[in-house]
Formats: sequence, structure tokens, C-alpha cells
Amino acid sequence: MIIKSFFDSIEPSKLDACAEGVAWLQGKLTPLRDAKISIMTHAFLYGTAVHEGIRGYRGDDERQVFIFRLNEHCDRLRRNCRVLRIDLPPAERVAEAIIDVVRANQIHSDCYIRAVAYKSGLQIGLRLSKVDDLAIFALPQDRFHATPKPLSVCISSWRRVQDNAIPPRAKINGAYVNSVLAMTDAAENGFDDAVLLSEDGHVSEGTGMNLFLRRNGRVITPPCYENILEGITRDTIIHLLDEELGISVESRPIDRTELYAADEVFFSGTGMEVVSVGAVDRRPVGDGTHELAERVRALYFDVARGKSERYAKWLAPVHAARKST
Ligand code: PMP
Repeated sequence: MIIKSFFDSIEPSKLDACAEGVAWLQGKLTPLRDAKISIMTHAFLYGTAVHEGIRGYRGDDERQVFIFRLNEHCDRLRRNCRVLRIDLPPAERVAEAIIDVVRANQIHSDCYIRAVAYKSGLQIGLRLSKVDDLAIFALPQDRFHATPKPLSVCISSWRRVQDNAIPPRAKINGAYVNSVLAMTDAAENGFDDAVLLSEDGHVSEGTGMNLFLRRNGRVITPPCYENILEGITRDTIIHLLDEELGISVESRPIDRTELYAADEVFFSGTGMEVVSVGAVDRRPVGDGTHELAERVRALYFDVARGKSERYAKWLAPVHAARKST
């Protein structure tokens, strides 16, 4: 059974169709319903896996799907595998496998792809073994926030995991318990999401997204040493702000109360895309306008949907181009 609440934006009628899909496991395409692992798997017992969430966007040609920044995702996965000493096939092979999965599922709409490199040995005992595998699945999906209402967020009472505990940079599955606790408490307290602070009290990031703020004409984002995931969307936005709007993003520690004083706050991430924050700890952000986030969002979708030739290098087409008649 696929738990509906996790895939909020998938209509219930489509869930069974997802279960009929095709996944990648043990080096080959396999029906999703048969893509299973043992309860003795090390990654299940100890969270020893790293993952990527990746999006595909339907282009103007209704049949084409572009996977956004596929090479960068495969590259990050490969680097993160080093932390857990996971032996991954070469990045090009992983990229091919991801495209194969989307193609095999005949997805011609926006989609979400999850790639997980994990310790696949059946092993009780903590020491990392040399037995690894790669799992991939893809789901057709509308945007998480189809009409993105500005979010009401809280500062979580949970602190962000640190580089010397479980490195957030490495996107390790077990580390996501940190985000799960923050998100669940936020939701149960009536917020849409949460912002986590580092142990020293600086703003780190959201539960599954990076954070930007605009204040006194400057755009600021927490630096890599604030225990953030070095987001690919964050990098995209820094590029687009610089190249398209001539705004150079400042990367520096941010105090909690700078969020209360900000003119604008927004999140970025593969899942969230670009979403404004309307209130932090029940304090409305700025004057309630989200001009910069809206410009960034529009730019982001133009690029992701293949409308900007300049950024075609960031798009991996899934399906063969139609022959022009
Ligand atoms: N921070 C965290 C904790 C995340 O899980 C994500 C989503 N992968 C992000 C930031 C955003 O990263 P990206 O833009 O690469 O999706």
C-alpha cells in the first residue's frame, strides 16, 4: 500500500497506477510491486543510505519531459556515497538508469524521481560492509504547491543535525529523522513547516528546503557551514538572481530575529520549488508582498520547462524528440 499522505499531490485514483510502475533495483528495471528489500537490510536497520529527490518537468511539446539538473544530482549522489563508502556505478550510468525508469513508466507529465544508494547487506552490526545497491522509482506528480500560498512556519525546537554528527550535506537517509520530527511537530502545532536553527542559534534551513531572505535591498542565504544541504535549487537561484536580475546573493550567518525583520523570506528545493514564507512564529513577514520570490519562481519554471535556451544545459530530455514533418 502506498501511504497517501506522503504523496499529497497524487490523486488517490492514480496511486494504484503508481504501484503498477517500474523501478530500478539490483542493476535492472523491475516491476515496482516486486522491488522489495529484506527487513534485515543494513539501510533499513540503521538508515545507511543516501538519496536524491529529482524532478522532471513537461516541456512545451506535450510528450517531452526534462529532468532538471540530472548531472548535478548524480554528481551529488556520487560524492555523498563517499561519506558512507557506498560503491556506486559511474555517474553517467546512474543518469541513464534514472532516464530509463522515467521512460519505462511512460511518464509524459511532471514527475518526481527518488534515487537511493544504500547498504544492501543483510547485516546486524554497525560496521559498514561492502554490499551496496541503487534503487530508483519515479512518480507522475503535480507540483507540491500547485497554487503556492505563502507558508506559515515556526522556528523548530529541534536543532539541525551537525556535520560532525550526521552530515546534512550528505543527504543521509537516517538524518531525515531530524526533519521528520521538526515537520511533524510544526504540523501538529498548526504550522505549514519549520525552520531549523544550528546548535549555535543561526538559521540553517527548512525541513526539506533551503532558505533565502530579502532585507534592506540585500538577498541573503545561510552559508554551507550552517549545516545545510547544499541544494541544487539554491544553486540554481543564486545563478538566476545573478545572471538574470543582476542581484548577488550574500551567503552569511542569519540570526533568528532577522527572519522576523525580513522584507521577504522564501524556500527553495526540488520538492518545494520556490515558495514564499508569509509568517514566521505568527509574525507576518514584511508587508505581505512577495515580489522577489515571484520573479525567481517565474524564472525557475521558464528554465525548468525548457523555455530558456541559455539554460538548456541543465535539462536532460527523457523521450526521443519528435520528428518535424
Ligand atoms: N535541504 C534539505 C534538508 C533537503 O532535504 C532538500 C531537498 N533535497 C533541500 C534542502 C533542497 O535541496 P535541492 O534543491 O537540491 O532539492
